[in-house]
Amino acid sequence: MAKPILLSVDDDSDVLRAIERDLRSHYGAEYRVLASDSPQAALDLLRQLKLRNDNVALLLADQRMPKMDGVGFLQEAREVFPGAKRALLTAYADTNAAISAINEVSINYFFLKPWDPPEQHLYPQLDDLLDDWQASYRPAFQGIRVLGTRWSPRSYELRDFLARNHVPYQWIDVELTASDPETKQLLEALGPEAAKLPVVLFPDGAKLLESVPAQVAQKVGLRTRAQTSFYDLAIVGGGPAGLAAAVYGASEGLHTVIIEREAPGGQAGMSSRIENYLGFPAGLSGGDLARRAVVQAQRFGVEILSPQEVAGIRTEGSYRILKLGDGSEISCHALMLASGVQWRRLEAPGIDRLQGAGIYYGGGATEALSCKGEIVYVVGGANSAGQAAMNFAKYAERVVMLVRGDSLASTMSQYLIDQIEHTPNIQIWAHASVAEAHGETHLEEISVLCSDTNKIERVPASAMFIFIGALPRTDWLGDLVERDEHGFVLTGPDLLWNGKRPKGWTLERDPFLLETNIPGLFAVGDVRHGSVKRVASGVGEGSVAVQFIHQYLSKV
Ligand SMILES: Cc1cc2nc3c(=O)[nH]c(=O)nc-3n(C[C@H](O)[C@H](O)[C@H](O)COP(=O)(O)OP(=O)(O)OC[C@H]3O[C@@H](n4cnc5c(N)ncnc54)[C@H](O)[C@@H]3O)c2cc1C
Repeated sequence: MAKPILLSVDDDSDVLRAIERDLRSHYGAEYRVLASDSPQAALDLLRQLKLRNDNVALLLADQRMPKMDGVGFLQEAREVFPGAKRALLTAYADTNAAISAINEVSINYFFLKPWDPPEQHLYPQLDDLLDDWQASYRPAFQGIRVLGTRWSPRSYELRDFLARNHVPYQWIDVELTASDPETKQLLEALGPEAAKLPVVLFPDGAKLLESVPAQVAQKVGLRTRAQTSFYDLAIVGGGPAGLAAAVYGASEGLHTVIIEREAPGGQAGMSSRIENYLGFPAGLSGGDLARRAVVQAQRFGVEILSPQEVAGIRTEGSYRILKLGDGSEISCHALMLASGVQWRRLEAPGIDRLQGAGIYYGGGATEALSCKGEIVYVVGGANSAGQAAMNFAKYAERVVMLVRGDSLASTMSQYLIDQIEHTPNIQIWAHASVAEAHGETHLEEISVLCSDTNKIERVPASAMFIFIGALPRTDWLGDLVERDEHGFVLTGPDLLWNGKRPKGWTLERDPFLLETNIPGLFAVGDVRHGSVKRVASGVGEGSVAVQFIHQYLSKV
């Protein structure tokens, strides 16, 4: 943890060197000693330190300086670090000025020059001041800080990205905490740059303005570029299916890479509590499962490129070549599609416009806390909606589930229905669908169509989370890979029509169970036609497919 700072300011370089030397020799082990020969430069430095979230324990300024005197400096410095102890260095002739400064501008102490010997005239008084400072000192947060506003889609995208990639950060809602002195000081230190939200402040003093996930990813060291151009096995998608395939593949000696568009964990990473995954009787959050799987994969040497998208694919002989979002290419012998599914869009006026500003697709784990004491709407009646409702019920005053049918019975697992029934602040609104979303800068109301009465009801709403099923996004596969009418990838027996192998298939065998119409190109998990949409089945398919990959590679 960074040491708190003692800053001395004096335009006389001899005096400055002397005070710096004495401070360092006595306090250097516990404090960082900084010095500046100009009050203006010292104020700039303080603003930089504020942005880095450093702590300043003591400001020690000479009274007689040409452009700004010591009292003036300490007054301005107090705006930036109000908690720092403030002391003046004065000549005997300035004693009166120092005494009135103590009274008028809350200066804690003044020292007469020269202060020799410091053991008598400096350290005892400073020890006292610093002990006092230590008593109320709370170490500042040492990680990334994100400044933004709750209703800004860009802020939401960034926070969601950081949370899903397990990057710890402190969120500062500059509107909600506008009257907080800490927020005010930060915004002042940023100056005009404070308008360029979201702002990300890093502990090394770097900052990103109007920042987007890709920039932050680079700065925090998430890997987005491949180390080599060829792999035995490349996996598109880092959800449960892709991660399982990577763990099995790499543990059995395959040089393996995963390319993941958003964050490892996939849909499972958005689940607040997975209760039906074998081996975790008390359930575990999707984030936790993803984190464990990533560590396990990396232990076996899997390279994970995230965030990075696969945008195209082609084959050259036995090579399968992926074109990535940044234009680079990766080739491999065996390729696995584990790209899962993405949320279906809710088609109603106002929805697209307010997405990220009160309307969210999926779990919105980062939003749960912001919904404290509010009424939250959850659209959908499947397990994912049920889990989210249970999670929001911990914070929100009331959670209303909008369900098209007359109950949850046909769409949700019984264990979740039981939990919901025993949660008094969850209400089911059956025969209901969203007709319109209203609000200027963020969601304020929704119109709900009640299919039993055919009437539309308009109700206040500040947050709505949509879970209405999902579809694969497989357009980037072009004509190369056979898919069903919804875009799910066909594999194994599904490719055989009247016992005939797929068009262009030249091998003397049928496609393996999880193999597509392209030899060596496999599909697992939710993206596969006919798959069971569960974590365990994705993990199972990912693991099993590796066996077929070994058989395939043995003949390449
Ligand atoms: C909120 C929620 C709760 C759930 N709860 C449960 C539960 O309790 N129990 C259960 O068994 N199942 C649950 N499920 C279902 C389960 O999460 C999925 O079945 C499972 O995650 C599917 O795994 P997958 O690896 O096939 O795909 P996904 O999890 O969808 O992962 C696919 C990954 O591929 C990435 N990707 C897609 N296209 C590209 C591309 N072109 N380039 C690079 N990357 C790409 C995506 O970003 C994504 O991370 C839940 C799902 C949700 C959404």
